[in-house]
Amino acid sequence: MKAIRVDAVLLYDEGTAEQLNIEEIAGYLRDKLKRVPVEVRGNPLASCREKDPDWARALASIKIQDAGRKLAISEPLYGEVQYEQRRILGKTRAFGVLYDGFHLLRIFSELIPRGERAPGFVHIFLTNRLFATWDDGDRRYHARTSVYGLSSVISTTGIVEAPARPREYYILKRQYEMLGKDLLGLKERFKGSFIDYEDTRLTEVVKGYVMQAVLYSLTGDPFCDDRGCRLYNAHWQEELIFAQLESGYEFCLRHTGLLQLVG
Ligand SMILES: [Zn+2]
Repeated sequence: MKAIRVDAVLLYDEGTAEQLNIEEIAGYLRDKLKRVPVEVRGNPLASCREKDPDWARALASIKIQDAGRKLAISEPLYGEVQYEQRRILGKTRAFGVLYDGFHLLRIFSELIPRGERAPGFVHIFLTNRLFATWDDGDRRYHARTSVYGLSSVISTTGIVEAPARPREYYILKRQYEMLGKDLLGLKERFKGSFIDYEDTRLTEVVKGYVMQAVLYSLTGDPFCDDRGCRLYNAHWQEELIFAQLESGYEFCLRHTGLLQLVG
């Protein structure tokens, strides 16, 4: 089998610095991909702050207002643009805003220097923005951990919110809410069984997701059927934790072999 070529992996960090150790993730990629240069690029929006009204407007226009309705891009309200502007400038933290994942990836991709828009360059955007993708089957948006393409976007908030928590968690959550009990107590009860905000395991988990992005660039398929392989497409927190942290191995035999051909 022919060696697979990757020219470089570029990691961008949009608001994840407090949660992730990006240098550690870059070091992990260097270790796995041997001679491939891995560069940490920082915030992709930082360089366009002077003309941020355009980017702020673009971001404000891809917000999902209703998970049951497919996004129709329209002119955002002044306040929404202002909010995105503050966000770009790092003056506010975003919670509770949901973006269309494919459109978000398109916006980030426009920030890639022209000379690097080629298949050998693997651009990975790490963000704390929560995004979702539209499902034609049940005709609604579903929150996602990542969207892979010529460039990829991975959400730390998505890793917390998208894969489902244990079923008992949701049953008890409803009871807690009905009784007006503090949800912190519930989280304490399930501690460790799902990835939470500011979870110390997040950096380790994201290593598996950046490898999925790399695999997409290499083969067009980021996923694996092996539940213990870091490329497993987890829909439950339990599956995610097993694939990324507990299976006892990183990659299945097939992907271990494939990764040895990269260089
Ligand atoms: Zn595998």
